[in-house]
Amino acid sequence: MSGNGDGTVSVAASYDVVVIGGGPAGLAGAVALGRSLRTVLVVDAGEPRNAPAAHAHNVLGREGVLPRELLADGRAEAQRYGVQVHEGTVTGAVRTDDGFTVTLADGTTTRARRLLVTTGLRDELPDVPGLAQRWGRDVLHCPFCHGWEVRRQQLVVLGTGPLAAHQAGLFRQLSDDVTLLLHSEHEPAADVMAGLTARGVRVLHGRATAVEVADDAVTGIRLESGELVPAQAVVVATGLDGVSTLPTGLGLEPTELEVGGTVLGRHLAVDGTGATAVPGVWAAGNGANPIPQVVVAAGAHTAALLKPLGLEIPLVAERGYHLQLAAPSIELELPMIYRAGGFALTPMHGGLRLGGTVEIADADAPPNYARAEALWGRAAQLLPSLTVVEKRSWMGSRPALPDSVPAVGLLPRMPRIAVVAGHGHDGMIGGPASGRLAAELLCGATPHIDPRPYRADRFGWGTVLRQAW
Ligand SMILES: Cc1cc2nc3c(=O)[nH]c(=O)nc-3n(C[C@H](O)[C@H](O)[C@H](O)COP(=O)(O)OP(=O)(O)OC[C@H]3O[C@@H](n4cnc5c(N)ncnc54)[C@H](O)[C@@H]3O)c2cc1C
Repeated sequence: MSGNGDGTVSVAASYDVVVIGGGPAGLAGAVALGRSLRTVLVVDAGEPRNAPAAHAHNVLGREGVLPRELLADGRAEAQRYGVQVHEGTVTGAVRTDDGFTVTLADGTTTRARRLLVTTGLRDELPDVPGLAQRWGRDVLHCPFCHGWEVRRQQLVVLGTGPLAAHQAGLFRQLSDDVTLLLHSEHEPAADVMAGLTARGVRVLHGRATAVEVADDAVTGIRLESGELVPAQAVVVATGLDGVSTLPTGLGLEPTELEVGGTVLGRHLAVDGTGATAVPGVWAAGNGANPIPQVVVAAGAHTAALLKPLGLEIPLVAERGYHLQLAAPSIELELPMIYRAGGFALTPMHGGLRLGGTVEIADADAPPNYARAEALWGRAAQLLPSLTVVEKRSWMGSRPALPDSVPAVGLLPRMPRIAVVAGHGHDGMIGGPASGRLAAELLCGATPHIDPRPYRADRFGWGTVLRQAW
């Protein structure tokens, strides 16, 4: 489709769908929508997450492709089906009677019946001089994206939080020279440390003051003590920000991404179909799901993910009710679970979330807001000081196992892939214990808890998962 010659196109007055963000997720969505005869505008600010990397890996059929080349081809494919791609930034979007009015940074406005938000993620790097300049080259985060490129090299994992030990374990599979440098206060648990050292990972304590570079290559990390920890590549965990580039006006609430009690970032919560809590607005890509893919953590996408893997685990729709308290009278620093009342209070960006009341119901059954009000009643009774100026009910639904507890196992012909399926709010489900159990199965280690209650075949659906015990 012809444009104005500068990446912009003449934006029409209205579309069926405006796709906000033209990375892989947005363009893939646009192709599908274009092929369904929808009128589609993709607005893209042109800063995909993997732009610093020279090549994109694990892209079947295009292994090692240049990231920009992949996107240029994706644009051309979308345009073939009539999709318009416009270079620009969506700054605002507001609901109207028949859809949304979308505003771009240059003042252009258009209308859309539906919105697909695919604005991606921003990686927030630890503040160590020299680190950002090497990001995506020899400062890395993901063993599946770049691990092969640094295989058998001297690797240092910059430990700034709970992910570092996990990264050290993963990169240890690619190199026998891995050092975990504990740069922050966070100290892995004693058994995790023991596991790392048993596998030959060197663990050091020390504050990093600079990433040292010579001849356009990382040579090591300089410590406050003056010592240089030599490295050919540095591994970091980044803060995951999936919300700062969102347009304003839609009321999309960010959800905290928490692992092992640590908030790793913020993203947009979606249900199994990609729907956000705002009717008519869908989200996909890293902005909605920042979790890497090796361990398939269940929840929103369980059914879709398990099916192609040949796993037929029965799932039902589980729904939870949340109340967003925009102006609460009490302030919390950490989530609080009130078992007596069956609810949790979670501090959120700009307010508090009161969540609880899970029910099993048909995915398309109407929301039962009486349950949300009952939730509020219980909370108000237990916490008389909890008053709000504004509150908003939200109902989310996701596929879950009938009893909401996980099934853990290894795939029959892919023993390096563990599947952890299930969802819940307590105990081992979705928490570090299930991740640890999966890791233990992957490594052939003795499980730290008795895994028998979690065998998939306890549901009576044959032997789809190869059990490791
Ligand atoms: C250094 C690095 C290397 C990686 N290497 C690999 C790899 O080898 N293989 C792999 O599979 N994955 C890799 N990844 C992960 C990969 O980058 C992401 O999974 C992928 O980019 C996510 O696609 P997305 O469409 O969700 O977001 P993005 O690719 O980030 O695209 C989002 C797009 O939306 C635009 N945008 C944001 N806000 C707005 C707005 N308000 N208006 C308009 N446009 C907006 C952005 O500018 C961007 O162009 C890597 C990640 C990093 C950080």
